[in-house]
Amino acid sequence: MCYNINMERCLVKILGFDVDSFTFEEAVDYAYSTPGQVVTINPEMISNAKSHPELAKVISDAQLVVPDGIGVELGLKILGHNVHRIAGVELGKALIEKFSKEGKSVAFIGAKPEVVKSAVENLKSEIPSLNAVYVKDGYFEDTDSVLTEVTDASPDLVLVALGHPKQEFFINSLKQRLKSATMIGLGGSFDVWAGYVKRAPVFWQKLGLEWLYRTIKEPQRFKRIFPVLPLFVIRVFKERLCNI
Ligand code: UDP
Repeated sequence: MCYNINMERCLVKILGFDVDSFTFEEAVDYAYSTPGQVVTINPEMISNAKSHPELAKVISDAQLVVPDGIGVELGLKILGHNVHRIAGVELGKALIEKFSKEGKSVAFIGAKPEVVKSAVENLKSEIPSLNAVYVKDGYFEDTDSVLTEVTDASPDLVLVALGHPKQEFFINSLKQRLKSATMIGLGGSFDVWAGYVKRAPVFWQKLGLEWLYRTIKEPQRFKRIFPVLPLFVIRVFKERLCNI
């Protein structure tokens, strides 16, 4: 690890993408003190970015890229890097706690209207100091108006749950206008905080099998991870062979 007092990034590479090797606590501190885009990268996103240079650019321009899930953690291990995964849903919650504790404001954008509303209500009952200055569901037509509204609300932390790569492009556009905020893409996290989706039991999480649990519970996810995951592993092994 090369995190230091100056909060410099220490990057490792996987399939051409830089990933930060911060611990969870370091990632929270870094995201708190560094405005810009936080990407929670996973094998699906990497595979998608391989064939979409505009997404690859958004990822490489991000201020922080954390390995979300066992896929990237294992891939990095195969390449000789011992970096622990950081679940987006946990990082997002820790950031809300940290920003709220410091008296900063938060914006929530994404998910269905009832989901984002319940998510914010539940979070408020857990974190009384949470100051949600902007709350918007993720099914809007006029992206430009939403970008203007959230910029006018001037939040310090922006959580965007539109699924990838929509949320990454949205944040990239917002970054041009809202220069002092930390902005993170969080996939289905609002559904979890609202209580609409249950996370895997801790036992499954510890084994790195949360993806399998979610696929069993939501079989429609199977076509999203297959053939992406096996192809990802093959590509990582190829990269390792090339590095020998
Ligand atoms: N979503 C949204 N607007 C859209 C498409 C999706 O707000 O146009 C939301 C959706 O309701 C869900 C989240 O984005 O809350 C994506 O969840 P998913 O589980 O697909 O994300 P993942 O964690 O797999 O990236």
